[in-house]
Amino acid sequence: MIEKLKQLLNNSRSDYFNFPVSAVIVTDKGEYYGVNVETSSPTAGICAERNALYNAITNGIKKDEIKEIHVMSKTGVYPCFICRQALVDYCNDNVDIYIYDINKIVNKVKLKDLCNYSFDKGDLK
Ligand SMILES: [Zn+2]
Repeated sequence: MIEKLKQLLNNSRSDYFNFPVSAVIVTDKGEYYGVNVETSSPTAGICAERNALYNAITNGIKKDEIKEIHVMSKTGVYPCFICRQALVDYCNDNVDIYIYDINKIVNKVKLKDLCNYSFDKGDLK
């Protein structure tokens, strides 16, 4: 997985903030990839995590089929809070999230531990 994430980092378009990130979503039906795409207007870009998640969704993957999320960056950062919201909405609480720097896994956490007290569909009643 480390080599795959490193290879994906080369596809990142981090032209503006120089912060490449890659992500792999592991599902029952295969792996789905994403990289971050930065733009001159930051909100027009997208993070690697959401890019991978939306790639999986585009390919028909359902919530229960998503098992693991792997994320690599230079310094081993966690998903931003916009991505956390998307992950809470489209993944199960027990999904494993693996955080990598360039050389190794730096942590493995459950989505529910990364997103305590999250806002979700159940709050929209
Ligand atoms: Zn993000």
